[in-house]
Amino acid sequence: MTEQISALVTFIEDYNKNKIVDDIIKYKIDLKASELTTFKIGGKIDAVIYPSSKKSMCDVLSYLEENKIKHLMLGRGSNVLFEDNGYSGVVVSAYGLSEIKTEGEYLIAECGVPITLCAAAAQKASLEGMEFAYGIPGSCGGAVVMNAGAYGGSMSDVIESTLCYDCESGKLIEISADEHKFGYRESIYHSNPKLVMLEAKMKLKFGDSDAIYAKMNEYMQRRTQKQPLEYPSAGSVFKRYPGYYTAELIDNAGLKGMRIGGAEVSEKHAGFIINKGGATAEDVKQLIKLIQDRIKRMYDIEIEREVIYIE
Ligand SMILES: Cc1cc2nc3c(=O)[nH]c(=O)nc-3n(C[C@H](O)[C@H](O)[C@H](O)COP(=O)(O)OP(=O)(O)OC[C@H]3O[C@@H](n4cnc5c(N)ncnc54)[C@H](O)[C@@H]3O)c2cc1C
Repeated sequence: MTEQISALVTFIEDYNKNKIVDDIIKYKIDLKASELTTFKIGGKIDAVIYPSSKKSMCDVLSYLEENKIKHLMLGRGSNVLFEDNGYSGVVVSAYGLSEIKTEGEYLIAECGVPITLCAAAAQKASLEGMEFAYGIPGSCGGAVVMNAGAYGGSMSDVIESTLCYDCESGKLIEISADEHKFGYRESIYHSNPKLVMLEAKMKLKFGDSDAIYAKMNEYMQRRTQKQPLEYPSAGSVFKRYPGYYTAELIDNAGLKGMRIGGAEVSEKHAGFIINKGGATAEDVKQLIKLIQDRIKRMYDIEIEREVIYIE
């Protein structure tokens, strides 16, 4: 354990001494990234911290900033690839921020709530607009950061505002819908990692709960039929290229089933790279490069990576 990490542990233990039980900060030392990500790839992380409220999240982030400790926010780890030799720094997990409620036509969720649970909660309250998100394996925070979307909907359609902690200024800021600068898999959070999304307010509208339920189930069935959910992955590896289905380009280039080490282009959905067992980050990166080079050579198109490399 480095001096920085051992000082951090002391900070957390002192912090917890004076706290009520349900607002304590948990932590784990030397956890592997493979245990925190849907790709199930990646080496040891110096420390993973689990604040359990917005207040303790801000206090931890402020400590990390003040002490210049390298850190990174993580939701459900479903759109990231960590290095094989891990991450020399602190991962702050959104896991413990799990409050969710509805207020009239608004759904308000903390960053750690699974986005699928947001869709389910909306349906329960007869609110429509979140159906597209049912089955996306990310957190509410990660979904806003990535402007996650599917089946014609995306987070930018429903976000009214978000509450964020600005690690640079140490202030809490409310960000309006427009200020998010949403684009395809883009948002202000994506371009400015100093901003940490704490809570999202989504504006939905009342509808028929049976019809909402039916739509969600249809989307889930389509996912199960088309996506290789039986293997670890990070979903679609590449962004959509305007006018093309990236998965179709990869399929037409004859790359389905292409394998490097334990990483393979899925036979079921060519946009997915799956971990067939023991895949390393290096295997995945090489396969991504091979696909990009082949698509460039065959179609003169540069497909962009959606999965984020954590270095
Ligand atoms: C099987 C499968 C299917 C998928 N299907 C879809 C799909 O249909 N549509 C789609 O858009 N995506 C899909 N994805 C990708 C992924 O689920 C989404 O991008 C999701 O929104 C990522 O959320 P996360 O919590 O896992 O983010 P993470 O992977 O944990 O993080 C992603 C990025 O967001 C940052 N981040 C996370 N939380 C916060 C926060 N609170 N504040 C600031 N920064 C934060 C991280 O630092 C990182 O840069 C799929 C993935 C898988 C594995």
